[in-house]
Amino acid sequence: MKIVVLDGYTLNPGDLTWEGLEKLGELIVYDRTPEDKISERIKDAEIIFTNKTPLTKETLEQEPNLKYVGVLATGYNVVDVDAAKELGIIVTNIPTYGTTAVAQMTTALLLEMCHHVGEHSEEVRNGGWTNNVDWCFWNHPLIELAGKNAGVIGFGRIGQNFAKIAEALGMNILAYDEYPNKDLESDTVKYVTLDELLAEADVISLHCPLFESTEGIINKDSIAKMKDGVMIVNTSRGPLIVEEDLAEALNSGKVAGAALDVLSVEPPTMDNPLMTAKNCIITPHIAWAPTESRARLMDIAVDNLEKFIAGSPINVVNK
Ligand code: NAD
Repeated sequence: MKIVVLDGYTLNPGDLTWEGLEKLGELIVYDRTPEDKISERIKDAEIIFTNKTPLTKETLEQEPNLKYVGVLATGYNVVDVDAAKELGIIVTNIPTYGTTAVAQMTTALLLEMCHHVGEHSEEVRNGGWTNNVDWCFWNHPLIELAGKNAGVIGFGRIGQNFAKIAEALGMNILAYDEYPNKDLESDTVKYVTLDELLAEADVISLHCPLFESTEGIINKDSIAKMKDGVMIVNTSRGPLIVEEDLAEALNSGKVAGAALDVLSVEPPTMDNPLMTAKNCIITPHIAWAPTESRARLMDIAVDNLEKFIAGSPINVVNK
């Protein structure tokens, strides 16, 4: 059985092993696959794994042997799942592997906006402390989070996990979710409407999926409803934010800081307005990527394929 991994590098740049998949068939792993090479590489394959390489209806139709597509991520919009269903191809995803890692990264981004650890450390190495007249200095206002409101948009697995950390920092949680679960409310966690969250949050963290209903949820109008000096964190999906609107709000000072692990186009072009916006921290989509979290992803991918081969597939997204 021929198994092809089209873009394995980001999952396993060399610190993990493919042996779980090797045991299940004749495995070929490509680090990355340009779109004009996809058809050639999946020829005669029964099993394909993709992370971000698109599999369109036309591509899937060309490969009569294909029985299974394993997406090496949670989001599976890279595969035309309806076409796959019509063709009798099972598509699976990895629903949960990085909840704690993404919540931890969200916290890192938030704390970076509060303390600018990286920048201060760099300044010290460049002689800034050595040459300073006083015994200490800081380049930005430093911010204490205790007592402030964290607005969490999308109170699912990652949102709740981040909220626990924010609570430990002394923050009050204002949660907004399309499907509120009142059992999660407590002295420090309450559900609010989106408008209430926008009006009361000192920090807004995005954890909802990218749907038509959430695309551009942070825009000129929603920003106008926010407190002056709000901070925004996005570790979910870039298109949740209208980037020109956020850049304008950062440059005017309405938004005091933004810390973003995701952008609307990845990799971004250098003319993305957030690249030059004031007080904007951008990381290259790394929230999911600690070794522990990628190892979990790999284990689940192997388990998904084993269950498919055994005739009882799990994590199927195109039933
Ligand atoms: P989840 O499904 O557990 O939680 C999402 C929550 O959003 C749910 O509670 C859902 O009810 C809510 N929601 C859905 N539609 C909404 C709407 N219109 N308005 C408000 N809330 C809405 O998902 P999760 O595991 O917490 O993951 C959240 C997101 O994190 C994913 O969709 C993905 O985009 C992102 N993610 C990013 C990385 C990264 O590396 N940066 C890694 C993994 C996941």
